Amino acid sequence: MNDIDARAAAAARFDIPGRVPSFIHGEPSFSAGGDDIPVIDPATEEQISTLREADPAEVDAAVRSAREAFEHGPWPGMDIDRRKDILYAIRDVLRANSEELGYLETVNTGLTLANIERHVERMAKNFEFFAEVISTVAGETYTQDTRYLTYVTREPKGVGAMIAPWNAPLALASMRVVTCIAFGNTCVLKPSEYTPLSMYRMVELMHEAGLPPGVVNLVNGRGGITGTRLVGHEEVDMVGFTGGTETGKAIMSAAGKALKPVILELGGKSANIIFESADLDRALDGALTGIYANNGQQCLAGSRILVQRSIAEDFIARFAERARHIRIGDPFDPTTEIGPLCYRAHMERVLSYVDIARADGAEVIAGGQRATGFERGLYVEPTAVLAPSNATRVAQEEIFGPFATFLIFDDMEEAIRIANDSRFGLVAYVWSNELNTVMRCSREIRAGTIWVNTPMSRELRAPFGGYKESGIGRDGMHDSLQFFTEPKTTTIPMGAVPAGNFGKR
Ligand code: NAD
Repeated sequence: MNDIDARAAAAARFDIPGRVPSFIHGEPSFSAGGDDIPVIDPATEEQISTLREADPAEVDAAVRSAREAFEHGPWPGMDIDRRKDILYAIRDVLRANSEELGYLETVNTGLTLANIERHVERMAKNFEFFAEVISTVAGETYTQDTRYLTYVTREPKGVGAMIAPWNAPLALASMRVVTCIAFGNTCVLKPSEYTPLSMYRMVELMHEAGLPPGVVNLVNGRGGITGTRLVGHEEVDMVGFTGGTETGKAIMSAAGKALKPVILELGGKSANIIFESADLDRALDGALTGIYANNGQQCLAGSRILVQRSIAEDFIARFAERARHIRIGDPFDPTTEIGPLCYRAHMERVLSYVDIARADGAEVIAGGQRATGFERGLYVEPTAVLAPSNATRVAQEEIFGPFATFLIFDDMEEAIRIANDSRFGLVAYVWSNELNTVMRCSREIRAGTIWVNTPMSRELRAPFGGYKESGIGRDGMHDSLQFFTEPKTTTIPMGAVPAGNFGKR
């Protein structure tokens, strides 16, 4: 099947809604005062739908619904077994509709359908995993002072504002939502204004699976309109945000004014270090995957590739050769490896880094242009540059596209120094078969996750998040419990203990 057939076959089976509303208290809701915003297919640049932006009044209605569900609904006090059953039912319904969700996400993000199929499964697994987590939560008891029993229970915190980006909406927004609601909280989700299609359907399907109204509300719209109202709302108790570092700073400032806790999953410029002691064939595969997967639009991309001098010339040449052969094309075509970037301004920003690289003395070794051979669509060639130093902008700034920056190092000390010379600290990749090298890198690189001899591999039980400007807090089994619940300490005497003598004669 060629790409036109594959696209047409998917389009024949599933509808794209003409207008995308918000979803409040279990119902679609069209904001009376909001703007209409075009929703674009990046492979064609055609408008495929219209998003109805939630104005402040609509955000207020969504927060009211979440508050009502938290204060008076069944969800926060529900037996864990029942809440777990609903989370499993959500997993099952989402899986049963995976092809439709995959279609809606592919047509709106430009990510390849093969890639999105993995994201859809990740979304389902997120619900499954947190259903399992809540059934393991236990309290603490203390009896050191034998006259007293002190116990600690955990309670849901309240209403969360959950804000998600456009680069992997189903995988990332589902993580934001489930970490919040699994522990008994309720929330308002605001996805990116660029990618509302799969998000609306995901929330609708969650309700078909039996989620009570008000537990998850959805508001659509831009950050500056819908997002700021949501974060600043006095009835919101906490904020979970996945997105860019500058936005994260603005959100943390706004939340800080009302002492709202935040969890922030932000940007990265992660080092991918290739030592001469590595299995170089695997390292090459991993380096290409690390930067070009997800059309290069991923927070955990290995976007700074550090290569040891003794192997650099050959490794970089082989990388460039492979990059030139990557198949760019329609995201529905099963042979496509890189689809279009998500929206025009983003594509232009990514391409602008080619001139920035040259101005800083870097050499373009692959790509560097808008891809030719397409009448339309936001296609960019897989690009790689060799930078003269880690101080260059292409080594320091997150580009968030199919754009690799190579740097050369002489020894392990220098590699670790370069890896740490960044305002980010999300992940690092280390390729070496020498145990001492691996252990030193694991200990000394300041990043939230170190992947050794493998491209990205996500263990949901372990904490995920960033050092430095890559974030605050972590997603994961224990960390999500800590963030999304309040611990409560209760102390009860075991007998008649003295209670004081004030005023006794
Ligand atoms: P973005 O920061 O522009 O937008 C993210 C979300 O925030 C969107 O929904 C947007 O509408 C909203 N927003 C913008 N301004 C806001 C404001 N003032 N108040 C409230 N909401 C606001 O990010 P993006 O371009 O959508 O996503 C790309 C970025 O996300 C990259 O930097 C990437 O590294 C990062 N990211 C991080 C992770 C992670 O887990 N660390 C995962 C994916 C993406």
